[in-house]
Amino acid sequence: MRHLYINGNWTAPASDTPGRAVLNPADGTTITQVAEATVEDVDAAVAAAKAAFANPTWRDTTAAERADWLRRIADEMQADKARLGRIESDDSGKTLPEGEIDIDDVISCFRYFADIAAHHAGRVVDTGSNTAISRVVYEPVGVCSMIAPWNYPLMQMAWKIAPALAAGCTMVIKPSEVTPLSTIEFLRIVDRLGLPPGVINLVLGSGASVGNRMVEHPDVDLVSFTGGLATGKRIMATAAETVKKVALELGGKNPNVVFADADFDIAVDQAMNAAFTHSGQVCSAGVRLIVEEEIHDQFVTELVRRTELIRVGKATDERAETGPLVSAEHRAKVEEYVAVGLDEGATLRCGGKRPEEAELADGFFFLPTIFDNCRRDMRIVQEEIFGPVITIETFTTEAQALELANDTEYGLAGGVFTSDASRAQRVAIGMRHGTVWINDYHPYLPQAEWGGFGRSGVGRELGPTGLDEYRESKHIYQNIAPEPVRWFSGQK
Ligand code: NAD
Repeated sequence: MRHLYINGNWTAPASDTPGRAVLNPADGTTITQVAEATVEDVDAAVAAAKAAFANPTWRDTTAAERADWLRRIADEMQADKARLGRIESDDSGKTLPEGEIDIDDVISCFRYFADIAAHHAGRVVDTGSNTAISRVVYEPVGVCSMIAPWNYPLMQMAWKIAPALAAGCTMVIKPSEVTPLSTIEFLRIVDRLGLPPGVINLVLGSGASVGNRMVEHPDVDLVSFTGGLATGKRIMATAAETVKKVALELGGKNPNVVFADADFDIAVDQAMNAAFTHSGQVCSAGVRLIVEEEIHDQFVTELVRRTELIRVGKATDERAETGPLVSAEHRAKVEEYVAVGLDEGATLRCGGKRPEEAELADGFFFLPTIFDNCRRDMRIVQEEIFGPVITIETFTTEAQALELANDTEYGLAGGVFTSDASRAQRVAIGMRHGTVWINDYHPYLPQAEWGGFGRSGVGRELGPTGLDEYRESKHIYQNIAPEPVRWFSGQK
């Protein structure tokens, strides 16, 4: 049970805790048991990170040297991509190609932050005086706690680790207790490369105990969290006690707006891609479909026809297009929402149940589901279901489309489909969401910021701002011809 990585050593939990079974969501079997950390392990990990932050071996590295570490990590992952992708797929249920795409994304994230680490030097500030010079320098924030969800286990973690390393921080990281395996593998790479001890420390276990300690610990300077809204609120409140910096990437209920002049085939295809990729377990999933009234019937008929052809299956099925939900508990939550939708009077057009194939019976599968005739005040339209469930509303004017798209407490991402270029830009600018895709859905770039308006979060990951999250700015002012100020006379 030496699955914790603390101060450069593979470590067993401080006290005898029962391990935690990690399940394959495609068949419910136990892949392995992993160690469950204790609060004492978190304390040891934070102490190691704190010592590493102060240690000249890490503290005095230049940005270029840290960039080199990032590139070496990326190279190692590149060489091991197929195996890492399979681990991700077994653990989270995603198809094999999706597992590999995740690892590709992790690699490009590391390479991107390697590229910009050295470019962001300080800046000289004009003091307005010939006798003073002034500059702003950037320094690492310090010890960071990083907590990730289960839907993109290593990728969400990489969006935190890569910029934090580039900035010179040290860290304690915790993957979701549901999907810890790829992060353990990542630490094996770090260990093999010989990153200085304590720079990255891994703890495993529950949010309520291990995660909570990572947030409340007084020696942690910043918490970066990706996960659900309710957890995010709790983390922000806990972090307030010690006035930590907090970065939150939370949920979404993302609108996908289709105008009648959109390319019909592409808009239907992308509506499926937006909502059913990874069985809708994507924070930015475009599950709130907002379609112009005049094409509604034709659009929904075709969407339902194609959705019923989606092949749901295990990663071992090469033809599978999407996999299971991550756990039995999560599927039960999605099923509850289907019941809510029926109660609220939405029209179930397809799915809404588990697949009937006997070979899928042991996994946590759920069929892609479409609810038509939805109203903006329905719970299924407003709440994040985090499963393969589309709700459909209609509009007749551009203003109405925008009003619906912005009628959410969240604000993570959204899509617009139209052949009118100026309308596309108008609507994109009007949308109160952190990312807007036009005539496309889901692409993101490590070069571009990611994050939410509203209750989808605080701060940004990726892009130059993603690096700035892990840096403090410091203003250094020097008087090069000092003279007494004589503000105070020196007399009573
Ligand atoms: P979750 O909030 O249940 O758990 C996320 C992580 O937080 C886990 O590691 C968990 O152990 C930990 N945690 C739970 N309670 C905690 C506490 N009190 N203190 C500290 N840590 C705690 O979320 P989940 O179910 O794993 O993931 C799904 C959610 O993540 C969805 O809402 C989804 O939208 C969101 N998400 C957002 C983004 C984004 O970029 N905005 C990306 C992926 C997922």
